[in-house]
Amino acid sequence: MSPEAPSLLEVRGLVREFDLPGRGLFGPRRFLTAVSDVSFAIRRGEILGLVGESGSGKTTIGRMVMRLLDPTRGEVFFDGLDLTSLKGRKLRQQRRRFQMVFQDPYASLNPRMSVGEIVGEPLLIHDLVNSPSERRERVVRLFDRVGLSSHDLDRYPREFSGGGRQRVGIARAIACSPDLLVADEPIASLDLSIGAQIINLFASLNQTERMSLLFISHDLSVVRYLSDRVVVLYRGWAIESGPTPEVLTAPAHPYTRLLVGQDPGIPAELLNGESETPGLCPFLSRCPDALPVCREAAPDRFGNAGGGREVVCHLAASQDSWMPSSSSPSIQGIA
Ligand code: SF4
Repeated sequence: MSPEAPSLLEVRGLVREFDLPGRGLFGPRRFLTAVSDVSFAIRRGEILGLVGESGSGKTTIGRMVMRLLDPTRGEVFFDGLDLTSLKGRKLRQQRRRFQMVFQDPYASLNPRMSVGEIVGEPLLIHDLVNSPSERRERVVRLFDRVGLSSHDLDRYPREFSGGGRQRVGIARAIACSPDLLVADEPIASLDLSIGAQIINLFASLNQTERMSLLFISHDLSVVRYLSDRVVVLYRGWAIESGPTPEVLTAPAHPYTRLLVGQDPGIPAELLNGESETPGLCPFLSRCPDALPVCREAAPDRFGNAGGGREVVCHLAASQDSWMPSSSSPSIQGIA
């Protein structure tokens, strides 16, 4: 993938806050910051892995990219269009170009419709077929593409295994030939061998149809296998990013190092500590490498000399291979 390839998706300074209950009539607003100033881009035909443990904000980011959730601040550009400002018909027109594959395929499929109807529905909504026979023909081709049989057309979601339902969900997602798929933990509820088949299906869609993919997962081994680049999230912060092999074999951030060392899980005490001091590094209380400066100021974002990698950590300031990144808001004003 050429670094000069144009971005299909660009996420800039995304923030999402959720109000917490218990404010009282005149009390101050209480809120949880689920996503803090996250920026990244996906080039055409690229697979970007968004990795982090439960509660790191990755699903919230996926939902904001899909416009299923409005950001508190920040922008999402898709093929140059500011999605955050699109509404109504203009948003619906663009929607067929970016589609989502959900973790729980059963919950995302209408149980009262046959799977043939489910997969063919987007073709009707977006007016992409002229007749029922053309629609059926297109659905049969989609079934074939995801490894389902045309004999399955009239069956219902409940009659499929988890892997079969996920194939139906993927067939529906690719029905309108989108440019981007957002896949949120798509194999988390599947057993190992079925999950591997679904991963290979995503890889094949990327290679043959050039679909870009935002692949959201807590599973580093899958992200390592599938993605060209990776963004590592910690408590809503994008703390490190870059080409997947480089980040996962030579991580620069102490959290990424722990994550890689503990693959596929990390100790609970690293996830469930006390809340951090606003305005300082979110990993401070758990960092084995913390410096005195980490207790005084927020770290800046640093880029590596060769380009393509970023890390938000004070440790990078003392290393020649890193320099302050111009793209940078650092960690500021953490709520
Ligand atoms: S900024 Fe300091 S506390 Fe945060 S990860 Fe880097 S070394 Fe650790």
